[in-house]
Amino acid sequence: MSFVFAPTEVSAVPILGQAERFPVRRVYCVGRNYEEHAKEMGFTGREPPFFFLKPADALVVVNEGETGHMPYPSLTHNLHHEIELVVAIGTGGKNIKAADAEKHIFGYAVGLDMTRRDLQNEMKKLGRPWCIGKGFDKSAPIGPITPKAKAGDVNNAAIDLTVNGEPRQSSTVAKLIWNVAETIEHLSAAWELQPGDLIFTGTPEGVAAVVAGDTLVGQVAGLGRLTVKVDPAS
Ligand code: MN
Repeated sequence: MSFVFAPTEVSAVPILGQAERFPVRRVYCVGRNYEEHAKEMGFTGREPPFFFLKPADALVVVNEGETGHMPYPSLTHNLHHEIELVVAIGTGGKNIKAADAEKHIFGYAVGLDMTRRDLQNEMKKLGRPWCIGKGFDKSAPIGPITPKAKAGDVNNAAIDLTVNGEPRQSSTVAKLIWNVAETIEHLSAAWELQPGDLIFTGTPEGVAAVVAGDTLVGQVAGLGRLTVKVDPAS
């Protein structure tokens, strides 16, 4: 097959302990999946999970031990951090039951769902799509994938984020409203999952603004740490 120009290179995330990379197909995200974060966004109660997507090429892939860089994005004055557990799908399927979800998981990573909060809030108010608030270029920094056999008890892992060394977010994955298996059940009822799909599972409370020059360090226990510096607007 020939193309009129070179196709975009596939986003590929390193895997701890192996040379091959994880080729990314889609990036799904879950909204408001921790109770205290739902509250700080002005919502209460358990509602069915809802989803949005980021473009696969919005990932900022950060190798182990390295610092990733994202430029402060255009059009916003309120860039927020959201530290999240990311699930990497290794085996596809549709209508996957929560009890079977584990077999579809390849591994886990630490990710940041960076958000232009001012634009997202404006779109919410107008009932318009969140794309401009959530799916902008370089909006999804991600660290290496830990294969599930080496990841430990992810469902009860501590999750936290510091900015310039100051604690901002601190919780546990056990507080997910819809846990990883339930999220896969809901998501795979709406879309057929495929190998290469990533799921950003939602953020705990404590989301707040960052500015150019800030250094974010996010961790999920057992999955290592993700370090990202916000550069001046490019
Ligand atoms: Mn999020």
